[in-house]
Amino acid sequence: RSKELGGRRVEVFAAQMHADVVRRLELAADLQRALIEQQFAIEYQPIVDLATSRVTSVEALVRWWRGSVFVPPEQFLGPAEDTGLIVPLGEWILREACREVAAWRASSWDIGLSLNLSARQITAPRFVETVEEALAESGLPASALTLEVIEEMLVEDAEETIKRLSELRALGVRLAIDDFGTGYASLAFLRQLPVDMIKIDPSFVSGLGNDDTLTLLTRTIVRLGHDLGLIVVAEGIERPEQLDLLKRMGCTKGQGFLVARPMAARGVDSLMRTSLTV
Ligand code: C2E
Ligand code: MG
Ligand code: MG
Ligand code: MG
Repeated sequence: RSKELGGRRVEVFAAQMHADVVRRLELAADLQRALIEQQFAIEYQPIVDLATSRVTSVEALVRWWRGSVFVPPEQFLGPAEDTGLIVPLGEWILREACREVAAWRASSWDIGLSLNLSARQITAPRFVETVEEALAESGLPASALTLEVIEEMLVEDAEETIKRLSELRALGVRLAIDDFGTGYASLAFLRQLPVDMIKIDPSFVSGLGNDDTLTLLTRTIVRLGHDLGLIVVAEGIERPEQLDLLKRMGCTKGQGFLVARPMAARGVDSLMRTSLTV
C-alpha cells in the first residue's frame, strides 16, 4: 500500500515536472515571437538629486505585455537569459533608450540614462562595440550613460565581465552597482572595481525610520560610498520619512514610488515641462 502511494507521488511529481517544462518552452517561444513582433516596451523611472529635487536621470525598465497579460521582468528575464534572447532584447533596449534620452537632451534637458545589464549580455561578442554604436547613432554622450550591474556579475565568472566594463568606462560610460548590500562582494574588492555609483537595495531603505539596524546600515552604506568617492542612490523610497532620513544622511540621489513611478516615454515628456517636488 505504501509502495502504491509512493508510486502515485512519483507520477504526480513527473506530471508536475512535465507541466513546468512545457510552460518554460512556451515562454521561450513566446519571448522569441514577442521580440519579432515588437511587443516589448520601455518605461523610465526618474532618479532625483535629493539636495535639489531635480530629475538628473531616468532608469530604463523593460516591459512585456504577453497578449493582455503583463509579465513582470523578474519572470521573463531568467528565461531570456537562458535562451540567449536577452542579447538581442538587451540590444534593442539599449538602442531605443539611448535614442529617446538623446531626444530629451536635445530639448535642452540635461538628463542621464541608467540601463540594467544581464551577465550574458556583457560577455556576448561585440558588446562594447554595440554600446559604442548605440551612443554614436543616438548622439548620446558616453558620460550620460550609466550601466547597472549586480555584485554577483562581478564576482562569479568575473574576469571577462570586468575587462569589458573597464573598456566601457574608458569610453566615458559610468558604472553602477545595483541592489547594493545584498550580494557578496567584499568592500576591499569593491574598491578595486571601476565603479562610479552604488544603488542601495530597497531592503535597507524599507526599514528607514522603523528598524534601527536597517537605518544604521543605510547610514553606513551612504557614508562608505561617499568615503570611496561614489555617488550613492537610494532605491525603493515609498514613504516621506524615508525620504527625509535619506536627505539628512546626505544620500546623493533617490528613486522610488514616492518620487515617481516608472512611466512611458510620454510621461517623461510632460515631466520635462513640469518638475517633481520631493
Ligand atoms: P532594478 O534594476 O533594481 O529596478 C528597480 C525595480 O524596482 C523596478 O522593478 C522598479 O519598478 C521597482 N521600483 C522602483 N521604485 C519602487 C518602489 O518605491 N517600491 C517598489 N516596491 N518597487 C519599486 P521592475 O521594473 O519590475 O524590474 C525588476 C528588475 O528587473 C530590475 O531591478 C532589474 O534587475 C531587472 N530589469 C528591468 N528592466 C531590465 C532591462 O531592461 N534589462 C535587464 N537586464 N534587466 C532589467
Ligand atoms: Mg536597476
Ligand atoms: Mg535595484
Ligand atoms: Mg533588482
